Amino acid sequence: MKLCFATHNAHKLHEIAPLLPPVFELLNLEQIGCREELPETQDTIEGNSRQKAEFVWQHYRVNCFADDTGLEVAALHGEPGVRSARYAGPQRNGEENIDRLLHHLAGQTDRNARFKTVITLVLDGEVHSFEGIVEGNILEARRGGGGFGYDAVFLPDGYDRTFAEMDLAEKSLVSHRGKALEKMVGFFRAGFGPP
Ligand code: IMP
Repeated sequence: MKLCFATHNAHKLHEIAPLLPPVFELLNLEQIGCREELPETQDTIEGNSRQKAEFVWQHYRVNCFADDTGLEVAALHGEPGVRSARYAGPQRNGEENIDRLLHHLAGQTDRNARFKTVITLVLDGEVHSFEGIVEGNILEARRGGGGFGYDAVFLPDGYDRTFAEMDLAEKSLVSHRGKALEKMVGFFRAGFGPP
């Protein structure tokens, strides 16, 4: 079954591809002829996830899923949240976003944070959504060279390595996106599509 992952983010594609059972033929946006930016103008993670998936369905009529993720930091009242990509400005620069986060948390002892992902699946026009959350802490300095976004400062609960110090398979076992995707695969396995 052909299923498009509605993202222009190569890191996300790389993470998701090994997690989908082989019965799915995973397509990227290029492969369905979509080179335009996907709209992300909603003020919630759920809203943006749905907006991206519905846009692809409406314009390209391909079964697809989109994800949207936010880092919610307790001491910053849930910020950067839905603004995680553009936290340090419209240039969406991951390193600048981390710098800004560390600056706002300087001297703060409560470093609690969580990543939240919502995956929206549009299957023959029907919308389904799946949430994945991972709790953890924001370190005071970067650790590790892998991953992307805020990975180098996020230490998931129960682990002594940041997401940027884990390999892909390990991160996916623990991560927000891995958990949301597992729910989507479970949905298919339960009989709503190919096993
Ligand atoms: P997006 O809107 O789903 O692309 O995610 C918003 C921002 O959250 C991204 O630009 C990244 O900075 C960050 N982000 C999303 N997923 C991850 C992740 O798995 N690790 C670290 N940062 C992430």
